[in-house]
Amino acid sequence: MIRKTRLYTPGPTPLLPAAQFAMAAADIHHRTAEFRAIFQKVLAQLKVFVGTKNDVLLLSSSGTGAMEASIANLTSPGDKVLVLTAGKFGERWTGLAKAFNLEPDVVAAPYGETLDLAQVRAALKPAHKAIFMQATETSTAVRHDVQAIAKLRDELAPNTLLVVDAITGLGTTHFDVDGWGIDVMIGGSQKAVMIPPGLAYLSVSERAWAAMETSKNPRYYFDLRKERKNAVKGESAYTPAVALVAGLGAALDYIAGQAGGDLEKGRDALIDNAQVNAEATRAGLVSLGFTLFAPTAPAAAATAVSVPEGMDSSEVVKALKAKFALVAANGQGEMKGKIFRLAHLGFFDYLDTVAMLAAMEHIAKDTLGLPVKWGQAVAAAQEVYAKAVVS
Ligand SMILES: *Cc1c(COP(=O)(O)O)cnc(C)c1O
Repeated sequence: MIRKTRLYTPGPTPLLPAAQFAMAAADIHHRTAEFRAIFQKVLAQLKVFVGTKNDVLLLSSSGTGAMEASIANLTSPGDKVLVLTAGKFGERWTGLAKAFNLEPDVVAAPYGETLDLAQVRAALKPAHKAIFMQATETSTAVRHDVQAIAKLRDELAPNTLLVVDAITGLGTTHFDVDGWGIDVMIGGSQKAVMIPPGLAYLSVSERAWAAMETSKNPRYYFDLRKERKNAVKGESAYTPAVALVAGLGAALDYIAGQAGGDLEKGRDALIDNAQVNAEATRAGLVSLGFTLFAPTAPAAAATAVSVPEGMDSSEVVKALKAKFALVAANGQGEMKGKIFRLAHLGFFDYLDTVAMLAAMEHIAKDTLGLPVKWGQAVAAAQEVYAKAVVS
């Protein structure tokens, strides 16, 4: 049998062919009218994709660059901040806060669970300069209730900035960035927007811009004020990842094209697509006897699955690759060998989910020795699809 390589990893994700063509053709200089037109168009599209009237900036870095930029630009050494963490990406906020000499208070949820709002309520103080959190914690495939956190902030610490790593949240989760008062909302190119790694984007509220005027932490490459000044002219401060910007424009055009050219509707369709595929995946895998790692607050970005007691999830990841050239993600850190993760982020459709579940039936039977009736996981997914998608 021949096999097609398929990425089911929560970043990088499958590439949109139209974006690949746009990237291959992007032989343009970044200080030209031609590029300025593309850059300005993409920045305007990103505002719609993020769903905000705030400025949106584009950085040539991976997503962590935008996380670092938000810490460096908004805070001063010695600032108290609140980090809400439930996994490896939440822990990255703590690491960044320490690297910039902040004093982080940390509310941690066990891996596989979402944040306990009572604990957040008890910990949040007006003295906190900012709250740093994820919208979806990709390492455990948990979704956090960003709106509830925003409400707690409004009630208990209205001057505290809310910074959300939505790198896998955007394009998989519905948000009201301005209505909830999210000050910084961060996305990354290798997740729902169907292009390779190398770009990060973030929205910045007026309050966040004001905070930057007095903050004292060092910043140079990631000086957001410099990026804002240049963005007005259709440029970035330094040489941007030109080809990726062109690819991003093509991808956002494609997303708009899914809803007759309306990007906001196309984004919502992309989110609903992720949610249906995630639900179908959960139903299919549970029908095979797997246990969900994050059953109470599952993200639509990815699904994390525990393997039965005494088995190693690395075997599942290896077998998927060997038999079907299907690339799944292992657990990170302490979760390695215990869980595997499958993404529903970006350029995945329902038939991709059906194909993956068909592969999982073979893995469940042959690699894990579970009793499987062919079509069992696919049938469970079909029920979800039939209910969710009214023809
Ligand atoms: C992918 C990801 C990041 C960014 O990681 P990079 O490797 O820097 O792009 C950050 N947070 C979350 C939740 C992610 O999924």
